[in-house]
Amino acid sequence: MSSPKLIVASARLPVTMARKLERWVATPSNGGLVTALKSVADERGFRWLGWPGTNVVESEREAVTAALREHGSEPVFLGKAEAEGFYEGFSNRVLWPLLHGMVERSHFSPSAWRNYCRVNEKFADAIVASADPGEPIWIHDYQLALLPEMLRKRGVRSPIGFFLHIPFPSFEVYRTLAVREDILRGLLGADVIGFHAYEYVSHFRTTCLKVLGIESEVDELRFGARTVNLGVIPIGIDPLLIDEMKGHEDAIAERHGIQNANQGKKVMLGVDRLDYTKGIPEKLLAFEELLRTQPKWRGKVVLIQVAAPSREAVADYQNLKRHVEELVGRINGQYGSPTHTPVVYINKSVSRTRLVGMYQAADIALVTPLRDGMNLVALEYVAARGEMGGCLVLSEFAGSAHLLSGARLISPYNQEDLCAAMLEGLTSEPGMDAGFAHMVSFVGENTAKLWAQKFLSRLESHTEDEAVLAVPLDVSSGKARDRLESARQPLVLLDYDGTLRRYESQPMQAKPTAEVLRVLRALSAQAVVYVVSGRQADVMDRWLGDLPIGMVCEHGLAIRDRDGEWTQRLNVSGAGLKPIEPILEEFVQRTPGSLLEKKSASIAWHYRASDPEYGTFQAHQLLGVLEDALNGSQFNVLRGRRVIEVRHVNATKGDATAELLRLHSDADVVFAAGDDRTDEEMMEVVARSGGERTVTCWVGGQNASAEYWVEEPEQLLAELTELCALWGGRVSPAHGKKRSSD
Ligand code: UDP
Repeated sequence: MSSPKLIVASARLPVTMARKLERWVATPSNGGLVTALKSVADERGFRWLGWPGTNVVESEREAVTAALREHGSEPVFLGKAEAEGFYEGFSNRVLWPLLHGMVERSHFSPSAWRNYCRVNEKFADAIVASADPGEPIWIHDYQLALLPEMLRKRGVRSPIGFFLHIPFPSFEVYRTLAVREDILRGLLGADVIGFHAYEYVSHFRTTCLKVLGIESEVDELRFGARTVNLGVIPIGIDPLLIDEMKGHEDAIAERHGIQNANQGKKVMLGVDRLDYTKGIPEKLLAFEELLRTQPKWRGKVVLIQVAAPSREAVADYQNLKRHVEELVGRINGQYGSPTHTPVVYINKSVSRTRLVGMYQAADIALVTPLRDGMNLVALEYVAARGEMGGCLVLSEFAGSAHLLSGARLISPYNQEDLCAAMLEGLTSEPGMDAGFAHMVSFVGENTAKLWAQKFLSRLESHTEDEAVLAVPLDVSSGKARDRLESARQPLVLLDYDGTLRRYESQPMQAKPTAEVLRVLRALSAQAVVYVVSGRQADVMDRWLGDLPIGMVCEHGLAIRDRDGEWTQRLNVSGAGLKPIEPILEEFVQRTPGSLLEKKSASIAWHYRASDPEYGTFQAHQLLGVLEDALNGSQFNVLRGRRVIEVRHVNATKGDATAELLRLHSDADVVFAAGDDRTDEEMMEVVARSGGERTVTCWVGGQNASAEYWVEEPEQLLAELTELCALWGGRVSPAHGKKRSSD
C-alpha cells in the first residue's frame, strides 16, 4: 500500500511569484527544505501550504492559486499589515532573536503578536479545508508555532509533525518571552517535534517542566491526552546535487576566477546571510587581529565574505550592515594595497552553483555563528570539497558542530582561539586528512532525503503507537450514552483533587468552587455519589459535608455515608509514621516551597510550589530514602502528582472501591472518574466489576485504566451536568445497604 499523501506547511511557499505581462508566474526556489521534501514527494506526493510572500489583491487570487497549483503549492493569502506583523513583527523581531538566545534584540509588541495568532489561525483554516482525513501534516519552523494546537482544537486527528529549524534556548532565556505558555502549548499540539540537536531538546524539556510543570522522558512527554515525541533529527543536504553542480559552467568559472585572482595566496571563505546571529563582525575582527599579529601573512591571504542581504526592513539588520561595512573598510584600508584586497566583500545573494565553485576554491571555510540551528554552509563546504579535503573552522554554537567531528571547533566569543584556528588552517598541509574524510562520508550518507524519511517514519510509527484506546467522554452520545442512559440506580465515584477541582500550589487553597458544589448537589439528586479522596476526613467534612453524598478519606481509611456518619475501615494510627517524620521534615527544609500534610494515618510531602526541576530531583531522592526507611513496615510510599505520600499498605482506593461496590451491589451502572495513580486502583476495581455497566473516565488525558477521558476538571463538570440531565427524574438515588460497622 502506498503511503498517504503529505501536507507540508511553512510560513513562505518555496516559490517566487512574479507578474509577467498579464500572467502570474511562480518560480520554484531550491532551498534546503525543498530539496529534502522533493525527494520524498517523488515517492508519496505532497501539497505545500504557505504564504506566497507577496501581497495579492482579491481579484488576482484565483490566478495566483492556479499558478501555484502547477508547483504543488496552495497559497495562504495575507493582508499587508497582517503579513508585516506576523512575519517581521513577531517571527523575526521576537522569536528569531529570542530562540537564538539574544534576549536584548527581542522586542515584543502586542499588535504583532495578535497578527501572529491571526495568521496561524488562517493557516489552520486552510489546512482543515485542504487536508484529507488521516493525511499527515508536517509543519515547519517557528513562524507557525501555534499551528499544531490550533489544528487539534479544530478536531484534526491526522498525525501532526513539527520541525524547529532554529535552536531552542535555555529556560532562562525562553522565560523572558511574554507569551511563553502560548507558544509552548501551541507546539505541544504536535505528535512529534523534531530538533537538530539534543541540546535543544534538553532545553525544551526543562522549559516544559518549568513553564507548564510537565515532566518528560529523554524523548517524550505526556501532554493532556497525548504522548508528544521529541526527536533529534538533524537535517542534511543533497550531496548528489552538489556533485552535479561542480560540473556546471558557473561553478567552474567561479572556481577558476578565484584561483586565478589569488595565485600564491590562501583563500578563506565565509558564506552567510547578513544576520546578527552569524558572527560576521567577530569573524572580521579575528581576521584583522590575524593580520595585525602575523605580518608575514599580509598580502598572502584573502577572506571572501558573502553576506547575502536579509530582512533589510529591520533596524538591527541595517545597523549590522553598516557595522560590517565599516569593518571591511577598516581592514582593507589598513592592510590592502593597489594589488591586494584582504577582504572581498560580496553583499548580494550568490547562486548555489556559484557558491559550489567558491567552496571548491576555498582552502579554509570560516563558519562562525554566535548561534545557528544547524548551518548548511558547513555541510555544503564539506560536500563540495569532497576528495580534495579542506579545512572547516566551525563555531561550537552551530547545530552542525554536533555532527562534523573533523571540524576545528571554535567559540566566536574567543578571538584568540578563532585567530589560532585561522592560523592553523593557513599553515597546515593542504589535502585530505582522516577527520575531513570522515565528514565527507557523514555528509554523503546523512542526506536531506534521509532526514525527511526519518522524520516521517517517526511521525507515522508514533501515531500508530498512540492508536487511541480511550476516547473523549461525551455522555450524550455513543456507547457511553447507551450504558448510562439505561441506569435506574447509578453509583458515581469521583476523586477530588485534579478531578473535580484543579490543583493549587497549596493543597488547602483547593477549596471546592461553587460549580463543584452545584454539580455534586445536582448529581446527588440523581445518583449515589461518593467523593473518593486522599484528603483527611475533617477537611472533606468542612468542604463537602453539607452535601448528601458519601465520602472516602485518606485513600480508603474511612468511609462516610450520605448521612454524614464516618466508619473507620482500618484500625491504623499515625504513630507508625513517627520515625519517618524527621526525614520528611528535612526534605521540607531542603526544598523551598514544599510542605507536609499530616493526616490521621498518613503523611504527604507536597512539592507543587517548589522549583519544578529541583522539586522533581528532591522527590527522586526522597523516594529512595523512604523505601529504605519503610522496608518491612506496614506503610508504603505513593507517588502522586507532585506529592509523595506515606500511607498504610491496606489504605487503598481499590479496597475502598470494592467495599463501596459491595455496599451498593444494587447499583446498575457505575461511573468513576480520577486523575492520579491512586485512582487507577479505583478504575481497575470498577472495570472488573462488570465492564458493560461501567463508565470510567480519566481527567487529564488518556490512561490505560480508563475507557474515556477529558482534558481537565471543568470538562468533567460539564459532562456531569449533562449526566444529570440524562438521568433527570428517571432514577432513584436511595439504593444501597446500610454499612454494618465491623
Ligand atoms: N546561500 C545561497 N546564496 C547565498 C548565501 C547562502 O544560496 O548568497 C544558501 C547556502 O548555500 C545555504 C543556505 O543559503 O544552503 C544558508 O543556510 P544556512 O543553514 O547556512 O543558514 P540560514 O540562512 O538558513 O540561517
